[in-house]
Amino acid sequence: MPRAAVVYEHQGPVEIVEVELSALGPHDVRVAIGASGVCHSDVAAQTGALAFPTPIILGHEGAGTVVAVGSDVTSVAPGDHVALSAIISCGRCRPCVEGTPNLCEWGLPIIFSCAQPDGALRATDPSGRGLYQFASLGTLAEEVIVPEVATVPIPVDVPFEVAALVGCGVLTGVGAVLNRAKVRVGDTVAVIGCGGVGLNVVQAAAMAGASTIVAVDREEWKLQMAREFGATDAVDATAVDVVAAVRERTGGRGADVVFECVGNGALIRQAWDAAGIAGTVVAIGVAGSDEVVSLPAQELSTSEKTLMSCLYGTSRPRLDMPRYLQLYRQGKLRLDELVTRRYSMDQVSEAVADLNASRNARGVVVMG
Ligand SMILES: [Zn+2]
Ligand SMILES: [Zn+2]
Repeated sequence: MPRAAVVYEHQGPVEIVEVELSALGPHDVRVAIGASGVCHSDVAAQTGALAFPTPIILGHEGAGTVVAVGSDVTSVAPGDHVALSAIISCGRCRPCVEGTPNLCEWGLPIIFSCAQPDGALRATDPSGRGLYQFASLGTLAEEVIVPEVATVPIPVDVPFEVAALVGCGVLTGVGAVLNRAKVRVGDTVAVIGCGGVGLNVVQAAAMAGASTIVAVDREEWKLQMAREFGATDAVDATAVDVVAAVRERTGGRGADVVFECVGNGALIRQAWDAAGIAGTVVAIGVAGSDEVVSLPAQELSTSEKTLMSCLYGTSRPRLDMPRYLQLYRQGKLRLDELVTRRYSMDQVSEAVADLNASRNARGVVVMG
């Protein structure tokens, strides 16, 4: 029986349990996971900061091989390699028609329910207890059943660990730059928080032609990586005043676009202050449900700054995933370099601990 990483109650440990998968519904796809990244949102689901139901199989950035499909599935077949999308969309609602399927009115409530689109659960533990799946995926498992609309076919020559990362960190970071902020050639950019998402923001900003890219982090090794990914400047947030440092490096004006990749109210305020007149702040990090942002109200009428919310990089997964993988194959997107450590299924708890201790750009669990 396949194993999965399960959290039974918020704040509880991650347990590796054998799971039984149900028969396939007509729109289901059963996937043997090849690799799954471990993301801050997984920890948020574990702690309860992200109010997902329990017990839950963690993991939402994964890729693998299709092993079986339901009777009505037409877009993938057994043997296909797929990356999994952490959002699903209907193609018919207003956000879908407007080109923002990340906001699909049908899909969002489903992925937040962590059940399948028909409302049922597809995995049970040895005691027969039904298991939710993070974002209806639960990729920290050897095999999962997911909705067909969450699968995106990928070329077989792309390593699973690379394709897995595209499913969250890459779509989120690169999409925030290209789809949401639409960074222009010559823009000045600051990136607060240079982990798995922030590094993708940095490399996408470089690809978009940003002139100055100021990386901000508390860890020296992340700043070093950010330089390798295209940052022109690095600011150690433990040593200097970040707002002053960003202004200094952007001709005293403040940055045209500031990305907050942590999910912290005080840092979103910092991003606001680091943005110049008419600048844009893009909030990417997933904050806790009790986190609030305080902004100088007067500046809302005097600065013409824009505060943007960005969910999942404003991505169109079936369009953006293949695009980004093509850029990877051309050497324009660095994805291999994002994987700083690999773990086995037995080491998921260690991967989570390393994430909490900020030891990895991305830790990836490789199956089998
Ligand atoms: Zn994630
Ligand atoms: Zn929709």
